[in-house]
This record gives sequence, C-alpha cells and structure tokens, in this order.
Amino acid sequence: MNKALRRAVIAGNWKMNKNRAEARALITEMIPLVKDADCDVVICTPYTDLETALSLTEGTNIKVGAENCHWAPSGAFTGEISADMLTEMGVEYVVIGHSERRQYFGETNETVQKRVRAALSAGLKVILCVGETLAEREAGITEEVIAIQVKIALAGVSAEELSRVIIAYEPVWAIGTGKTATDEQANEVNHFIRSLVGRLYDEKTAAALTVQYGGSMNPGNAAGLLAMEDIDGGLIGGASLKAPDFAEIIRAASR
Ligand code: PEP
Repeated sequence: MNKALRRAVIAGNWKMNKNRAEARALITEMIPLVKDADCDVVICTPYTDLETALSLTEGTNIKVGAENCHWAPSGAFTGEISADMLTEMGVEYVVIGHSERRQYFGETNETVQKRVRAALSAGLKVILCVGETLAEREAGITEEVIAIQVKIALAGVSAEELSRVIIAYEPVWAIGTGKTATDEQANEVNHFIRSLVGRLYDEKTAAALTVQYGGSMNPGNAAGLLAMEDIDGGLIGGASLKAPDFAEIIRAASR
C-alpha cells in the first residue's frame, strides 16, 4: 500500500536518560551525522532536556518530542505536564501510551485516549504506542489486543487529525530486551494496523498512515525491518542514545 509515498519517521525515545550536559553532548554529536537524512528525524527526550533539545536543534532537520503529556490543560495534577505547555515551548511531537507507562504508571487504553485527544487539540503530533505482551502473543490474541488498543485510542479522532498521528507497533516482549520481532512478524502486525485503520476510516487515510516498528531496533536489524512494505520507520530506545547507532538506523531508513 504505497510505501514509497510515505516518508519514514525515525524517532528516538530517550526514556529517563541523559541530564542536560549529556543531552547537549549527544545532540551536538548527532546533528552532523543525521543532517542528510532522507526521512524525518525526531528525538523524544525527558521534560528536563526539552529546552536544551529545542535550542540546539533550531535550524537543523531534527524535531523534538516529549515522552508523555496529561489530558487536562492545567490544574491540580501534581507532577504532570499538559499538552499546551509542550506546544508553548515549541515541542512538535509527543509519545503516548508507551508500554512502560502502561506497565509501571497505570496507563490504560482510556487514559491513552484522553491524552491523544488533548495532544491533538493542542496541535501536537502523536506517536501512539501499541503492542502485545509475550503472554498475549503466545495465547494467539495479538490482533485482538492491538485492535482494542487502536480502536479505543483513536475513538473521536477525525481523519484530518489522524494525519498528525503515527502508530508505533511495539511488542512489549521486544522492548529493551534485545529480542526483536522478525521482519515478517513486525510487518504482519503493522499491516494489520493499517488494514484496521482502513476499516475505521478509509483506504486513502490508511495508505497515508505512518506505522513504525519499535523494539530493540539497532544498526544490525534496521535495514531488514525498514525495507518491509508496512514498516514506515522506527521508535528507537537504547540505540537512540548513541549518535552513531541512531545515525546508522536513519541511513537505513533513507535508502
Ligand atoms: C522504546 O523505548 O520505545 C524502545 C523500542 O526501546 P528499545 O529500542 O530499547 O527496545
């Protein structure tokens, strides 16, 4: 379905890594390595690094994202950050529904939906993470789990808004484990997500949708994964913390 028409997006998810000095060093090393990328390049950083990332990447091809946002515009939500606060800073992207938030911070499909809506209303681009656990894969319910996650997260999202949504398929068993889905396993679920979006919206919207793969993507396996018909880029954790590795994945996506 028109892979050539979709521009790949390689996004780094720094998780809870890099203080300001380390962020400055990593981004400074990264800028010349990725400047010729023929794909979109995004770094999603801890809140405390956003200001540094925004100022260092100004005038470069690197875009900046946050790793979460709250659904309310403001209020009594101690420790939270609103989508409007991010757009006001100049942040362009936000990761929502990452499996680590679902696993450790009580994120549910319903709170993911609220965050997606708030982020889109604030004008952000959303990287929506979905994925099955190992137990769910072994029980043969991967597609059911993904369908529920996607349907609930996108409820109320218009086709126009969906043009600002990237879906990242991230099998939970492959995140930070060094275990990658095979090219075929990843493509199969990405294809399922695109077909589902085709049924929920229409074929044209589905064909234009960016569907990433994430889960231990690295310079050694990126080219194979990124060559698959329904894989339009990657959400990269560990390998995004090393500029040469991140740049190598970006080169693979630029081919
Ligand atoms: C992630 O954090 O989204 C991720 C895919 O991590 P890793 O690449 O380290 O598996």
